[in-house]
Amino acid sequence: MAIKNNLIKTETFKEQFLVPSYYKNFSCKGTQCRNTCCSGWKVTIPMNEYFTLHGLSCNKSLREKIDRAFRPLHNPSPERYAEITHNHKGNCPLLLDNGYCELHAKCTEEVLPSVCRYYPRGPKFDYAFESSCTNSCEKTLELLFEEEVPISFEKKELTFKLNKTSNSVSNDDRALYHTLRETCFRILSDRTHKLTDRIMMIGKLLSQLDKDKSLPITSIDFSIPLFEININQSLIALINASEWFIENSPSISLLCMEAKQYYSIGELESQYKLALSHFESAFPTHEIMFEKMLVNSLFFRQFPFQDFSANFYEEFISLCGMYAFTRYLSLPIMFGKHQLESFIDLMSKAYRVISHTRFERTILALLKSEEIREYDSLGVFIQL
Ligand code: SF4
Repeated sequence: MAIKNNLIKTETFKEQFLVPSYYKNFSCKGTQCRNTCCSGWKVTIPMNEYFTLHGLSCNKSLREKIDRAFRPLHNPSPERYAEITHNHKGNCPLLLDNGYCELHAKCTEEVLPSVCRYYPRGPKFDYAFESSCTNSCEKTLELLFEEEVPISFEKKELTFKLNKTSNSVSNDDRALYHTLRETCFRILSDRTHKLTDRIMMIGKLLSQLDKDKSLPITSIDFSIPLFEININQSLIALINASEWFIENSPSISLLCMEAKQYYSIGELESQYKLALSHFESAFPTHEIMFEKMLVNSLFFRQFPFQDFSANFYEEFISLCGMYAFTRYLSLPIMFGKHQLESFIDLMSKAYRVISHTRFERTILALLKSEEIREYDSLGVFIQL
């Protein structure tokens, strides 16, 4: 397959970026990290970065390690050209025993692929200059859970060297991006409503804007009906959806199997109630924790604009799927556990898939195959 390299250009951005308030407090835990980001998951790099590494002047031993560490994909694109392959321990071959990166230690930071240089930060520059840290990093989750106040945002001057792609954004779309996201985060952080109602309010907002993007937000009726609770129906849909991740997602297949196993040892609803009761007593602020993970994840992923072609309502279906899926994993896997560290380990693993794969497309397709797509069925589905 012929690939044109001229689709990607690297550019340095020194700008005022919008960042979450915890951002300034982030520092990597390095060797203290329980789930280092160099371990256990597929990471891809773009073509220009692959060839920079390929042409790097270095000694023979590092050269061999680089060649082993980065392998072109079967169906490469300029943006996703090669993947990091792991050694028998599941680590990046360039990870040293002391926890540092050999490429970083022996060459300049400049040669690191941007994913390694900036992770867990996710700088964005197309709709707006924004940066935040992904929930897949345990330090990010620790910062999120350190305090209970809702996530706020502030401006900070930052410099990033980034790959500029050919996507272009109109001024109208940029204006909508700002208004819509500000409204979504305000709704999600409004604790006068329970979290599931806040999610359903986002659904009202997005479905109305799909019909008319110029509709004033103040004209939207945000009242939420009382949804029926049907735990069996929600869990069966999630167990079915989790089969796909068991088959196709090595990062979380074991977690999905563990959740499924828990639900298989008794009657579904009783197992759920048992796990919920434990979870609520072990983590009394769980609703706040889920709220903050949602806001942080949606900010990171440019929700609901992360897919340049999707409609907003489909992004809402994916949001419901993301929330329900994280609840589905949390209750059984945290059963009997009380440590916040265990919950952080679980969620950081789940968010490796949620934040860094096409999770939103996958969960959308899986929910549609379960006939969960209409507003009312989603309202019932997320009552977990
Ligand atoms: S997951 Fe976060 S804290 Fe851990 S090594 Fe990576 S960046 Fe550092």
